[in-house]
Amino acid sequence: ATPTALMVGTGRGAQLGILIKGPEVLESTRRVDTVVLDKTGTVTTGHMDLHEVYATDATDEKELLRLAAALEHASEHPVARAVTAGAARRLGLETGALPAPRDFENVPGSGVRGTVAGHTLLAGHARFLADAGVTGLDELTAARERAEAAGRTAVLVAWDGVARGLLTVADTVKAEGPDAVRALRDLGLAPVLLTGDNRAVAQSVAEAVGIAPDAVYAEVLPEDKADVVRRLQGEGRVVAMVGDGVNDAAALATADLGLAMGTGTDAAIEAGDLTLVRGDLRVAADAIRLARRTLATIK
Ligand code: ADP
Ligand code: MG
Repeated sequence: ATPTALMVGTGRGAQLGILIKGPEVLESTRRVDTVVLDKTGTVTTGHMDLHEVYATDATDEKELLRLAAALEHASEHPVARAVTAGAARRLGLETGALPAPRDFENVPGSGVRGTVAGHTLLAGHARFLADAGVTGLDELTAARERAEAAGRTAVLVAWDGVARGLLTVADTVKAEGPDAVRALRDLGLAPVLLTGDNRAVAQSVAEAVGIAPDAVYAEVLPEDKADVVRRLQGEGRVVAMVGDGVNDAAALATADLGLAMGTGTDAAIEAGDLTLVRGDLRVAADAIRLARRTLATIK
């Protein structure tokens, strides 16, 4: 590969909104045949909204909103932001007026815990609360399944060991999502969706952008995302990974080519080989096309 042609590729990349770590990065895109897409913030906007609030019979809905909002205020996760903003709006409160939790802990891929107003709180998915020994989860099952069937994520809330209710949040698929996936297919690449979110949500996003149901990996813990990439590589595939989150950093580094969303976290950008500056998913295909052209020029 001649350095000059690679440098030209790098310059053209900048025009397209692609930042390339080094010209040699283009080499690794040549044989890519599979593109793993993170869901939240990559295929979807990552700006979630609060939809329903469901309190158990014994729970005051306002208290549920207030405690959940206060706990999630300590987290930066898109789910947490939606809970805090939506709950505060419904309560007519400024988020700044929420009490700060004590003993706060973020459990990546699962939820959050902490103490608010003397109560020991947990908020997260059903498995997280069940594993923590929370009782009364059965009372939330119907509401949770309804939410998930509608393509939403249910945030279950418990305090003092008892399930108290749930809040449902949802994200929007990026407008360019279907075009972006089509452009990848046109390049002969197989798209795969990877997420820590529940299967029903993952399938509805996959369907919206045209990814096959059998190419969806859901409910994957952050530490296992890189394993999915390794498993695909073990099948002989050459894998590009597109992601934005702290959770995606290991998978981005493991992939043969890591593409980070410029709108994402610093951890993802550092782990990636390329950055899609504007966060436009269509540019993933542009990046791979550019690399192939640049290398064809060299041959
Ligand atoms: P993704 O792969 O979609 O970025 P994560 O791995 O960050 O998702 O999270 C997986 C799931 O864990 C979320 O869909 C949600 O159910 C739960 N979760 C993570 N963080 C939080 C939080 N702060 N509050 C509530 N639930 C959370
Ligand atoms: Mg993400």
